[in-house]
Amino acid sequence: MDGKALAARIRNEVAAEVAELGHVGLATVLVGDDPASDVYITHKHRAATEAGIDARDIRLRADILEEDVLALVGDLNADDEIDGVLVQVPLPAHIDETRVTYAVAPVKDVDGFHPVNAGNLYLGTPLHVPATPAGCMELLAAYDVAPTGREAVVIGRSEIVGRPVAMLLLQASATVTICHSRTADLAAQVRRADIVVAAVGVPGIVTPEMVKPGATVLDVGLTRTDEGICGDVDPAVADVAGLLTPMPGGVGPMTIAMLLRSAVKAARYRRRILAYPML
Ligand code: NAP
Repeated sequence: MDGKALAARIRNEVAAEVAELGHVGLATVLVGDDPASDVYITHKHRAATEAGIDARDIRLRADILEEDVLALVGDLNADDEIDGVLVQVPLPAHIDETRVTYAVAPVKDVDGFHPVNAGNLYLGTPLHVPATPAGCMELLAAYDVAPTGREAVVIGRSEIVGRPVAMLLLQASATVTICHSRTADLAAQVRRADIVVAAVGVPGIVTPEMVKPGATVLDVGLTRTDEGICGDVDPAVADVAGLLTPMPGGVGPMTIAMLLRSAVKAARYRRRILAYPML
């Protein structure tokens, strides 16, 4: 499944939508100098700018006080030029991530991490949705994999990937199983699946023997090793699966494309082109 090509198509669509709206503002906030976060934010910022989004790249010192981060988020919430606000996680240990997540105005929460957005996803009335799970669903749709009635197994239960993608699959009427580090027999669970989403961070945890022939496998995991970037899925799964996302070039590029789409959605919510319940 070519996530790179699909992401390029979505980014072009987003650029056209931004031009139609006239202005879309996105603020990204990075606290500290974690190299991986720096790469993610730089990619997101560059992609947003290329799509014509007015992207503000805010960088803060690692030792900034929590109250100063909260004050900045408050300013961005009040700023009419800004439609979307994204605070890159993880934050330094002295800053309470939950407090910062709660502080972002739900309508501007393009990451979909605020409990209002996470709660609406749980209720089956999605508003802003986390980008990686949204990218997974977009890949399934692009390759005509209809989740209705299928067995979907999600490995991982984080609030960023595992849980939200499970909710989206449920919303799409799959029969969903969520696995995690305490799952008794992971292989037995995965073997039943028509759709597998691996979001663990353990290279090669999904092996060919675990995959039902013809299944669709989405590899979200990303681990940097001495040999390069590894996914959660053993590359030999390609011999068994019907469809598989490559690593790199699968889910990763989709995450950025879906974030840009989320920024456009935020602009539509704020202009009341789309209904957001709290506006
Ligand atoms: P996370 O918060 O560390 O969650 C990992 C999940 O995997 C947890 O639920 C954990 O279970 C489960 N797990 C760990 N070991 C396991 C095992 N042996 N068997 C079954 N489940 C196991 O990570 P995350 O934020 O969800 O990210 C997951 C991976 O996706 C990471 O590699 C991350 O880098 C990658 N990622 C990629 C993108 C992208 O755009 N491509 C975006 C986001 C994340 P417990 O809950 O029981 O601990």
